[in-house]
Amino acid sequence: MQLSPSTPSSRTVLVTGGNRGIGLAISEQLLAQGHRVAVTHRGSGGPAGAFGVTCDVTNPKDVDRAFTAVEEAIGPVEVLVSNAGVTSDALLMRMREDQFHGVVDTNLFGAWRCARRATPAMLRARWGRMIFISSVSATSGTAGQANYAASKSALIGLARSITRELGPRNITANVVSPGWIDTEMTAVLSPSHRTEVIEQVPLGRAGTPEDVAGVVSWLAGEAGAYVSGAVIPVDGGLGMGC
Ligand code: NDP
Repeated sequence: MQLSPSTPSSRTVLVTGGNRGIGLAISEQLLAQGHRVAVTHRGSGGPAGAFGVTCDVTNPKDVDRAFTAVEEAIGPVEVLVSNAGVTSDALLMRMREDQFHGVVDTNLFGAWRCARRATPAMLRARWGRMIFISSVSATSGTAGQANYAASKSALIGLARSITRELGPRNITANVVSPGWIDTEMTAVLSPSHRTEVIEQVPLGRAGTPEDVAGVVSWLAGEAGAYVSGAVIPVDGGLGMGC
């Protein structure tokens, strides 16, 4: 594995779920920009050039072990991209406890666990970026996704609280809210549902993982230095007004 030397614009980045989908595109874009990138995965391995570490974000010990491994291999995490996420859709009346709990445990608690574990090193460095991957569902809501929308909207409160708590130490926390992005997560939904959603997108197309990665890269870079507590949609206009 070839790691870039440390320069002021080359940071140590950890992307949770950086092995596929949106997380993979983010990892690849940040690698191409010369950052030292670590990705968490659950057995599949990470992309070439990245430091891969297994981690289930629902397990606090796993999160701690993964951060320690990253610190030893490529240095303390300076940019955390909390991307790992799941869905488990059901209408409210039919949604089981385990479906609600499982989604919130991964999408919200997982993000919080990683943010908490990343904080001491960022405080020591007096520099840090936390980027949480939310969803247009966070603010617009989605029928059949009460668990998912609740977990994703809570990331906004999380990022804004972190901004107030850690902003004075030069640590930013932002939320990126994708709309419909073609990945394995959306591939399980029916083509007719996809068409229905895309018809509502002013830009008239689905998003790509690279569309999301571009905004994350910008937030992670020097140009994003004065942005914190923001919710940045990457949805082709789908969520306008929400
Ligand atoms: P994918 O289903 O393609 O990938 C999900 C990623 O999350 C995988 O890397 C997966 O790891 C990881 N993951 C899931 N559960 C855990 C866990 N418990 N611990 C560690 N890693 C886990 O989804 P996307 O790439 O589409 O989604 C990425 C993020 O973007 C998610 O947070 C999602 O909610 C969000 N998003 C996606 C949208 C879309 O339209 N696709 C729209 C809006 C938001 P593994 O490979 O091991 O399963």
